[in-house]
Amino acid sequence: MSELLAGLNNEQLRAVTWPAKSALVLAGAGSGKTRVLTTRIAWLIATGQVNPSGILAVTFTNKAAREMHTRLGAMVPVNVRTMWIGTFHGLCNRFLRAHYRDAGLPQAFQILDSADQQAAIKRLLKSLELSDEKYPPRAVQSFINGNKEAGLRADRLPPALNPYEAKLVELYAAYDAQCRREGVVDFAELLLRSYELLQANAALRAHYQGRFRHILVDEFQDTNRLQYAWLKLLSGEHNVLFAVGDDDQSIYAFRGAEVGNMRALLSDFQVAEPVRLEQNYRSVGTILNAANALIERNDGRLGKNLWTDAGEGEQIRLYEAYSDGDEAQFIIDEVKNLQREGMNLSDMAILYRSNAQSRVLEHVLVNAQLPYRIYGGLRFFERQEVKHALAYLRLVSNPDDDNALLRVINVPARGIGARTVENLQAISREQGVTLWQACCAAGGGRTAAKLGEFVLLIEALRNKSSAMTLAETVSLIIDHSGLRAMYEQDKKEGEERLANLDELVSAAAGFFPDQPELAIVEFLSAASLEAGEHQAEAGEDALQLMTVHAAKGLEFDAVFVSGLEEGLFPHENSMNDSKGLEEERRLMYVAVTRARKRLYLSCAQSRMLHGQSRYPIRSRFVEEIPAELVRVLSATVKPVPQASPRRAPWLEEASAPASTMSLQGFRIGQGVSHAKFGAGVVINAEGSGNDVRLQINFAEHGLKWLDLRYAKLTAE
Ligand code: ATP
Ligand code: MG
Repeated sequence: MSELLAGLNNEQLRAVTWPAKSALVLAGAGSGKTRVLTTRIAWLIATGQVNPSGILAVTFTNKAAREMHTRLGAMVPVNVRTMWIGTFHGLCNRFLRAHYRDAGLPQAFQILDSADQQAAIKRLLKSLELSDEKYPPRAVQSFINGNKEAGLRADRLPPALNPYEAKLVELYAAYDAQCRREGVVDFAELLLRSYELLQANAALRAHYQGRFRHILVDEFQDTNRLQYAWLKLLSGEHNVLFAVGDDDQSIYAFRGAEVGNMRALLSDFQVAEPVRLEQNYRSVGTILNAANALIERNDGRLGKNLWTDAGEGEQIRLYEAYSDGDEAQFIIDEVKNLQREGMNLSDMAILYRSNAQSRVLEHVLVNAQLPYRIYGGLRFFERQEVKHALAYLRLVSNPDDDNALLRVINVPARGIGARTVENLQAISREQGVTLWQACCAAGGGRTAAKLGEFVLLIEALRNKSSAMTLAETVSLIIDHSGLRAMYEQDKKEGEERLANLDELVSAAAGFFPDQPELAIVEFLSAASLEAGEHQAEAGEDALQLMTVHAAKGLEFDAVFVSGLEEGLFPHENSMNDSKGLEEERRLMYVAVTRARKRLYLSCAQSRMLHGQSRYPIRSRFVEEIPAELVRVLSATVKPVPQASPRRAPWLEEASAPASTMSLQGFRIGQGVSHAKFGAGVVINAEGSGNDVRLQINFAEHGLKWLDLRYAKLTAE
């Protein structure tokens, strides 16, 4: 026992050994919330206060759930599988699998990840002859999900305000009907269906309320209304809800998360006072001070202090690059330096606000031949070839899955064209049957023969696989569907795609289902749930690249926060209202607090994004960090670019050495003065003729690129 509790500080100890009543641990980043939660589970079990089966723990990601399993396995000698530990989606999936009949679902119901859901919506729009432009599938998707997350079905929505909204409500209802017909469930549906089932079925509710005596939730600040309602329902009158969270790290308001849930918990569960943890064990003092200074600017915080005894550490480094390429190069050079000093690549992370920023970074990384892993881009289970194979697997398990059928009916090409598919869809609409049923019923003719072959293929896969293991089935599918042959023909990307398919077979071989007879179904759900998640895996030594959202809960020795520019971070969509800006600031707080020892901030004076050049200014978040915590690194002095080729070769300037070249009267190394920025030195130049930009290192304002056409610059 004492071993379990060793090393905890007094507040952590108090939280871990909290008596059997509900609690809210409200504490800043890196204060040990996740650690407290895990230790409390072990302590509850070790002291005999609860059986492992009486534990329900909600983690933010599947990875966090796996880690918790592993840690608990090492702390207490129990079968951790009997505990329900997982994400909201994972737990609801487990619940619905166990009670699929009561939930009105087929046993082999499939889960739609976000991309599948969009495809399903597109298909629906088409079948209703509504245009994608008038009803963008993304907008329809967020309308549906937003309402599901608020616990509202289409028939429960308040009267529509206008015909457009009325159409959205209709689409919502039609979408739900389509999902029911096909036996599929999207992410938000997993939760709503579980909630409705628990609410409607008193016996089931009594069973689970009697079982889960201790319910523990990590990252509580990011729960939405429906999740909170689900937790409340499971808690009943007597169970203990132990939640940990940090209002300053609430970064999912855009998806309906409600910090208000923290206040609701205090009153709904009669918690007098949150437990606070104030010592940060993650970051050195400078980083922590920067984080504190930043977040202090937000209003309406629940308020907390964080301190560390880890020492001040090094200053934060700030680099202002002249372009996004230059920024990427700087970061990669620093990564190499740190690596030389002995830091593992996997202990370093590059964070960015938007996925689109990763392209330039990747380009430089590839040139530098540094191994890296990128998250939030295409993950394994989202790759084309993997999705194709999984679609066959879905059809083996449930041929009525229209999404899956559409994905592979002509992959590899088997002469079933778009016209045929449209005909099938028309039949399915008119007769209320699934596409598979329409295929099976197809009459004579050449196309019907092709459809017949496809039906035979799926039937054969179903028959053969019935006596096979999961891995054998996956392997059978890849070989017999024609996918392998198709990728063998692909000279460009085939090799990598085949390697991924082989990896899928290994993943299947390493998968241990709870119920072996349902191996395929369980494997498919695990794959969908993973595909919806964009968080980093640790492991092999590779540099970690991810969005700030994906970095939540993680920590690294060195962190690079890139693209700190107005419009990018804070994001332009958020800049017009103070709520949006505060959420961006919390995101910045999350970014900064991921770093243990070293933090780099960087921005660029010009950036190509979405095909356009931008000339942004430095993010306000950089200015919000006290200057004494920051060391400004000067940009590397680049050679002055060669004069433009159109210039006459006999012009003297063209061959003059950079340091003496005349740039509208200025030269590199010269002292200058500017009305706003004060005194500085010219360190770099770009362009020629009238179109000259100078880079100047200003004593008080750091590096700036100035366009001589506009900047009022005088020589010293
Ligand atoms: P976040 O808000 O980012 O999720 P957190 O509050 O969950 O952070 P943890 O991840 O649990 O914090 O802990 C941060 C780091 O501090 C971890 O590496 C953890 O092992 C370490 N840590 C926590 N408590 C202690 C302690 N008492 N002694 C030593 N290290 C600790
Ligand atoms: Mg945590």
